Amino acid sequence: MKKRILTGDTPTGKLHIGHYVGTLKNRVALQDEYEEFIILADTHALSTLSGNPRVIQGHTLSVLLANLAVGLDPEKVHFFAESLIPEIYEMAAIFSMYVSHNRALRNPTVKDEITMKGLGDRFSLGFVNYPIFQAADILCVKADLVPVGKDQEAHIEQTRELAREMNRIAGSEVFPEPEGLIGEIGKLVGTDGNPKMGKSLGNTIYLGATTDEIKEKVMSMYTDPNRIHASDPGKVEGNPVFIYLDAFKTPEDEEQIAQFKQAYTQGHVGDVEVKTYLVGVLDRFMAPIRERMEKYNNEKLLLEILHAGSKTTQGEAQKNLEEVKKIIGFVY
Ligand code: ATP
Ligand code: MG
Repeated sequence: MKKRILTGDTPTGKLHIGHYVGTLKNRVALQDEYEEFIILADTHALSTLSGNPRVIQGHTLSVLLANLAVGLDPEKVHFFAESLIPEIYEMAAIFSMYVSHNRALRNPTVKDEITMKGLGDRFSLGFVNYPIFQAADILCVKADLVPVGKDQEAHIEQTRELAREMNRIAGSEVFPEPEGLIGEIGKLVGTDGNPKMGKSLGNTIYLGATTDEIKEKVMSMYTDPNRIHASDPGKVEGNPVFIYLDAFKTPEDEEQIAQFKQAYTQGHVGDVEVKTYLVGVLDRFMAPIRERMEKYNNEKLLLEILHAGSKTTQGEAQKNLEEVKKIIGFVY
């Protein structure tokens, strides 16, 4: 039997190139080796969109479309909507009894997101419960591996603790302790130099972006703030333009990029020239994504894919919820 992957996205907006390097690329690379379950975590999306919940459904389909557009094969991968698997809610309710309130609040990603999203003290109970829900997403299919971006590491630790606790009570290894798999670039910087390219921060290049959209974003990108003239020596390290070049280059781009790096540090090439090259690199990366996006952009087809994957996932979730109930002795 193949080992399992569980990963996915919160449908709070469109997916972007940060999601690609953080997790989508690994999903594509591992779809043959593993049995993959990909969640569209619509209930999780309520943690930020509760006031405007009806937009989530549209985002769910757009996020599914982006997953297909990067090359995930719906014949192999099970895509499911969190809200179609009520077993997840039951499992999460049980798990929430095993996590102290302090432990939940101590989660560094929860703390970061409260600051980053400016939630102050208005964050919901569900927001703090987010990682516990996520543990249910992961354990309901007994996943072995969870390919995610760096910001999810803390949540996976929470899942591992819950798996261990269930196993301790059971006296045997019922749940594998899932491992995280962080992408080569665990956190891609935004076009504005913000350490995280984020759906809600407006500093993104969306998957499926047109050539013009790419051009507009790249040409106004943040580079080295201390460099005023093209003849000033510039900094390559930490410069978003070079980070993107390295992230999306093909082997044919290697030599040119190495030359640019050298020239940039010596003040022999301007931002505009390097940025123009980056537009080309990103446009070549995006071309097949745009094509597949057109191919799958059909609501009926997307819903069929979602229903089929949800049905398979629910079968697994039912079995594993039963196991949790057996562990805690809820057998009547
Ligand atoms: P939200 O603000 O709603 O949480 P998000 O942009 O963080 O949105 P998620 O759906 O939470 O998106 O994350 C999906 C996956 O993409 C996760 O594995 C996350 O770690 C990863 N990811 C998100 N942003 C980045 C980024 N800038 N670089 C690399 N990976 C990222
Ligand atoms: Mg997130």
